[in-house]
Amino acid sequence: MGAVNGPALTTASLTLTGHPFQRAGAWAVVVLAGRPTVDEVSAADLDQVAERIVEEVCAAATAAKGSAAYDWWKALFALYPNSKATHSKRPQDRVVLKAAVEELFVVDAEGGGVAVRSCTFCRGGASVVWAKSNLPLFDTNKALNTLPPGVPGWPVCRGCRIAVWALPYGSWVTAGSATVLTCERDAAEREFAEGNVRRARRVMQLGFDRVLGAGVRPELVALRALRAVRAELSGTTLWSFKNDNQEPWLRVTRTRRAVPCFLAVVEGNAPLRRAWRLLELWLTRRDKQGAVVSSGSAEAARLLFEAEDGRSVSFLYKLCQLLNDKGRPRYAQDEADLMGLALTYTKEILGMEPDLVPVATLLADWIEHGSGSPRGRWAEYYNVSQNGYRLGLLLNKAQNRLMLDGRDVPATANDWRPLIGQRSGHWEHRMLLTPTVSKILADRGVRLNERVSEDEERRVREAVESPILSYEDDEVNGPS
Ligand SMILES: [Zn+2]
Repeated sequence: MGAVNGPALTTASLTLTGHPFQRAGAWAVVVLAGRPTVDEVSAADLDQVAERIVEEVCAAATAAKGSAAYDWWKALFALYPNSKATHSKRPQDRVVLKAAVEELFVVDAEGGGVAVRSCTFCRGGASVVWAKSNLPLFDTNKALNTLPPGVPGWPVCRGCRIAVWALPYGSWVTAGSATVLTCERDAAEREFAEGNVRRARRVMQLGFDRVLGAGVRPELVALRALRAVRAELSGTTLWSFKNDNQEPWLRVTRTRRAVPCFLAVVEGNAPLRRAWRLLELWLTRRDKQGAVVSSGSAEAARLLFEAEDGRSVSFLYKLCQLLNDKGRPRYAQDEADLMGLALTYTKEILGMEPDLVPVATLLADWIEHGSGSPRGRWAEYYNVSQNGYRLGLLLNKAQNRLMLDGRDVPATANDWRPLIGQRSGHWEHRMLLTPTVSKILADRGVRLNERVSEDEERRVREAVESPILSYEDDEVNGPS
């Protein structure tokens, strides 16, 4: 930063604040500086990191369109669309541009008639105010914050300005968005940032096409970071956003605190690990050439993150869809393992331990012994299985039939209650009832699904033995 000659200097420092973007950026600075913690980042480290950011921003902003280096500009454009480095009218002369970008990280003035305000992020002294052009999602119609009255912009100290522009290094970036992680465990945040800093380097060298690979997602990277630091009870939040001029957006998804425990239970138990792999294999999507277009491990990881707006697919729902998929290869062992995974999730994450066997046995008895074909009665049950009221009517009918036939009826009113109500937890019980019925029928030799080819069976049997939550290729942890 030799080109900047500011007035009297304040002590440059870096703070990890509670703002997710500043925080992710501050972690990136810590990693870029090669320090273990934020407290060990020196003023000289900050200068070096700022210098590197300036160099790489300028390289991206003056790169030829279509080149790999230009891809980093796309990431910057998704975060700071109106900045001096990303604006369509930016100087193409690198020397001119560099001076403009260096100015972003000018040291804060102290006294000398310059107003020093309290930094928006860390409350330290800041003589520079920034607006939305340099601060993702600030002061737009869909902003996280609103500007205090009478202040010409957001005061941001030098440490936080560097952090905010180190954000693309510390976040999971694509050509049109960025995702950051906040977590109760600092070490997991650092781990996430470390992987992203390595990945940023590869994006700058190779471009997104060669780095994004088989659809690895930030959820998978976040879960792997949690696992790497052996977190126990720990909530995590992913903040994905695009700072677009017209349509800025922010999407927030969280995991429940028990997720690390749940994953540890799954990894430590062979049948549950097999079930998780079956889920990953079932979620994997391939193109006609057999190349992975959607990674099953990434999609499985995504299911553990719940959207704030409720618009996310539930883990239990997907697992039950898999259990009810009559077209997939299956062994009786698969059913038992998958059901075990569903019940472990229900217990560890939702804190419920339903006993579904009595009602499931009632339904299985009726499907096996009622009038007409078992397939027809299964379909009748399946059609009402997720509606408490209609399921209640069907249970009545089934019970009546079994009683008239002189058979024992295994379920009591207490067993019915959590399945036919509308209270929270009831739909999860109904969801789990279907595979429970299906398993009882399978154990009795009542087959409802079609057989699949031997090749397909063999492929699944081999793949199910590999580790869970793995990358389909080495794109993230590959050579940097
Ligand atoms: Zn600050």
